[in-house]
Amino acid sequence: MKSTNQKKLGFAIVGLGKFATEQIMPNFKDCQQARLTALVSGSPAKAKKLAAEYGIAEQNIYSYENFDSIKDNPDVDVVYIILPNGLHAEYTVRAAQAGKHVLCEKPMATTVADCEKMIAACKKAGRQLMIAYRAQYEPFNLNAIARIRKGELGKVRAITADHGRPVKPAEEKADVWRVDKKLAGGGSLMDIGIYSLNACRYLLGEEPVEVTALESSDKSDPRFKEVEDNIHFTLRFPSGVLATCTSSYSYESVKRGRVFGDKAWLDLDPLSDYYEHTLKVGSSKGETEPKIQEGNQFAAELDHMAECARTNTTPRTPGEEGLRDVRLILAIYEAARTGKAVTV
Ligand code: NAD
Repeated sequence: MKSTNQKKLGFAIVGLGKFATEQIMPNFKDCQQARLTALVSGSPAKAKKLAAEYGIAEQNIYSYENFDSIKDNPDVDVVYIILPNGLHAEYTVRAAQAGKHVLCEKPMATTVADCEKMIAACKKAGRQLMIAYRAQYEPFNLNAIARIRKGELGKVRAITADHGRPVKPAEEKADVWRVDKKLAGGGSLMDIGIYSLNACRYLLGEEPVEVTALESSDKSDPRFKEVEDNIHFTLRFPSGVLATCTSSYSYESVKRGRVFGDKAWLDLDPLSDYYEHTLKVGSSKGETEPKIQEGNQFAAELDHMAECARTNTTPRTPGEEGLRDVRLILAIYEAARTGKAVTV
């Protein structure tokens, strides 16, 4: 949809960290329906510098303390929460109480109770809540979903998905809160294993009924004193499909997913990168790499949020979608802790 700048909905970003400044803010330039109009930060100097760079009025800079006064700002329609996981619930509830629609980063929150609080607050305020599952707005993933639904792979029998990267709190500021249980909620699973989990669900279009898991974390490594490193889990789906997933904070970067059907397989590698995806389809007869146009998943996601806010319609990835993953993540932790399969 084409529209003038005036018709675009205004977004406030809460938390000006790595992901917000390196991926989200620069990608508003490709949006048709969303524009960046306000910043919320604990660092006035950083916010002022970024505001100047992005042409944001100085009166549209908020601190965490005066954030609630955003309710009086007509330049802001949507508040996008890009804070450490443990803070998502508080700021979502405050944004809803200020009468704003909310886009919130994954994982939605660190407990089921917090997710339910966030859904209830947005419902009470009559505002939309969307979880920023960018892969569900990304063309290669959408193409894979369409192929699976059309039956191109035949009957799907299994999925594997792997997400790993080394967490480096000594080198990366953004990794410091990731190894702090209170702020992160958990380790690799909350942060990146969630991509494997969410992908299994959207690729298949089904909800798992049972999970099993094994965890292996070196507790002598200070990074894994509070949060897990390796956690491998399996999901059983009602159709009989089994998904096998890995999640790690110690191996080199991997972000892939594979779907195995009785006629063909499909490989997304990477499945969840920011840019440059690859999709392959193959069978015993050979493999092909269909031509798919790369697209700006960030702009697509922001535009979808803006459209849902403007038309007051439920987003494709609403709070309930975030809640499902948090429930499953906690069931996976329980399965790893008890060594027993957990019915969900
Ligand atoms: P980051 O540490 O770079 O950014 C977090 C921001 O929150 C910083 O600006 C920090 O100053 C601020 N903050 C406010 N209160 C804080 C507190 N008490 N402790 C620590 N920081 C505090 O982290 P990030 O990598 O940008 O991640 C932020 C969120 O975005 C997380 O929820 C993460 O899961 C999500 N994320 C999503 C993607 C994606 O692809 N969708 C990628 C990276 C991160």
